Amino acid sequence: MSEYAVRERITQLGRSLFQRRYTSGSSGNISVRLPDGILITPTNACLGELTEDRISKVDWSGNHIAGDRPSKEAFLHLAMYRQRPDDSAIVHLHSTWSVAVSCLADIDPANVLPPITAYYVMRVGKLPLIDYYPPGDVGLAQAVEAKARQAHSLLLANHGPVVAGKSLEAAGAAIEELEETARLYMLLRGLPVRFLTSDQVRQLQERFSE
Ligand code: ZN
Repeated sequence: MSEYAVRERITQLGRSLFQRRYTSGSSGNISVRLPDGILITPTNACLGELTEDRISKVDWSGNHIAGDRPSKEAFLHLAMYRQRPDDSAIVHLHSTWSVAVSCLADIDPANVLPPITAYYVMRVGKLPLIDYYPPGDVGLAQAVEAKARQAHSLLLANHGPVVAGKSLEAAGAAIEELEETARLYMLLRGLPVRFLTSDQVRQLQERFSE
């Protein structure tokens, strides 16, 4: 696939996520791995109004090579790619329900959400919580690197989810599944709930693990 075709797919996914309110304002960013770096959405860009030519290109050291200035969160993507050599795309959102869950005081930081549905288990699986860091703090990259090898989905405390995938479509589908599951989790809070049992989770992992 040509680099321009990749830029088109980033633009299409951004518009789709924005139109369906998974992101708002200029929050959220999308990246795709290239041999010589990554393509990533620009800083202060609305995901609903991306244009192919303005998508940024950054090398593996974080240097800006082409397009508009990259997202200030590009370092977060680079940190995740370093630990996940088989993944080729990352989506990060400030989506409301996932952010709400990331602010709860009583969640398990090793695995934030319980197994509510089979599709959550198959598409997201484990969801570690990353401690809060202020915007731009390099400590966040280190914290992400420490957890990214064991899980392709991470939840940044008081901030939002970041999800890597084997393709842009896989990363997009997984972060949507995560956001909808976070919403279900908040709807179910305080109610007696039957989550999937550990046997049911194991069966899904055996049958659908990649
Ligand atoms: Zn962010």
